[in-house]
Amino acid sequence: MDKRQLKAFEKKLTARHQELQATVRRNLRDGPASDDRAVEIGDIAATSFEQEIVFGQKASMFQHLRLSEEALKRISAGTFGYCTLCESEISLQRLGAVPWTPYCIGCQEQLERSQ
Ligand SMILES: [Zn+2]
Repeated sequence: MDKRQLKAFEKKLTARHQELQATVRRNLRDGPASDDRAVEIGDIAATSFEQEIVFGQKASMFQHLRLSEEALKRISAGTFGYCTLCESEISLQRLGAVPWTPYCIGCQEQLERSQ
């Protein structure tokens, strides 16, 4: 990957990171009720199954925030684009779709199988 490509990924990840941070902050400050979509979900979250969905959305929001943070750290460390498990290069196509991923497709599949 050349410098220009790396810069483009950095820009993309920084934007996503800021967006997620703003969402998390909004949720923490005002509570989910201030978010129009969350109000809707909150109103219908009568069953524990629906509450679990709401919880899952929050968890994945934090998880994505963490993943984008770690990807930005890998950019400054110079290890971005390499799998954190097997250290092989992650394809540009994969990074284009999920720039925050820490794994190559092989390791990702293996992880999913073992879950
Ligand atoms: Zn790997």
